[in-house]
Amino acid sequence: AKTLGGNIFQSYTEDMNKKAERWLSLENGLRHALERHELTLHYQPQVAIANSRILGVEALLRWHRDGQTFISPAEFIPLAEEVGLIIPLGEWVLRTACLQAKLWHDAGFCDLVMAVNISARQFQHPEFTELVAAVIKETGIDPRYLELEITESVTMHDAEKTIATLNSLRALNLQLSIDDFGTGYSSLSYLKRFPINKLKVDQSFVRNMTTDPNDASITKSVILLGQSLNLNVIAEGVETAEQLALLKQYGCDEVQGYFFSKPVPHNELERLLTSNPQQ
Ligand code: C2E
Ligand code: CA
Ligand code: CA
Ligand code: CA
Repeated sequence: AKTLGGNIFQSYTEDMNKKAERWLSLENGLRHALERHELTLHYQPQVAIANSRILGVEALLRWHRDGQTFISPAEFIPLAEEVGLIIPLGEWVLRTACLQAKLWHDAGFCDLVMAVNISARQFQHPEFTELVAAVIKETGIDPRYLELEITESVTMHDAEKTIATLNSLRALNLQLSIDDFGTGYSSLSYLKRFPINKLKVDQSFVRNMTTDPNDASITKSVILLGQSLNLNVIAEGVETAEQLALLKQYGCDEVQGYFFSKPVPHNELERLLTSNPQQ
């Protein structure tokens, strides 16, 4: 008979094999996802707390594998990052989002901001700034309405290099925001040197802010920090009226979350824009 330890080891390796298989199959699928037109962008409104106006949208990548199974970006983005596929995928996201923004601007939503997620590997690519400049030129987007979301963890690797890259991006006249702020322990002394426009309070704090006083304090502190550095502050993952009321009381500028809208396809976003009173 097998020992208990042997059984645990066996099920552990089986588990690892399953994960490796899933990973490999996803990687193969992802390699062809672009040419098979399985990728789309959804857009989630970013709303001014003061008057409920939709100021911008965040572009979020969606993968319908073989036209049916939905794979979460929380699963395939880290994989794409790991195997380097994020470079071509990220370029497609940037170009598609800028084209869409240009269409909306031309349709009369002149100052709608398009926020695009940028992964670590993209941000650290030696020709990233050149790529962004080329996409801006090619798509004709007014760069003042393009915002790049960089996660806080990305900015922690090499601060001097990060500042140099952020400066070269800002020189293109676009906007920069720090995503998932509060989760990465970035040094405040560097934060004040980052040429950024916006902080995004991570949704892990927002989620429990109406029940957990610690999360409420952190959220409030991040908002105050942003204000004192003259940055816009947006809270993400806002799902309830209670969260919204508290964020308003704290002086937060913008919110994003299911309370207003989940991420939606472009035609649904157009409907939201058309019915949004202040557009
Ligand atoms: P993120 O950048 O922090 O994006 C916010 C995530 O929160 C999105 O998940 C969004 O759908 C979800 N969300 C929005 N409002 C709510 C809410 O009220 N409650 C809850 N529970 N969730 C909410 P999604 O779309 O699954 O994306 C997950 C992550 O995948 C993103 O986190 C981002 O890190 C990454 N990602 C997605 N699209 C892209 C992309 O085009 N490029 C890169 N590099 N990363 C992407
Ligand atoms: Ca984001
Ligand atoms: Ca985020
Ligand atoms: Ca996140």
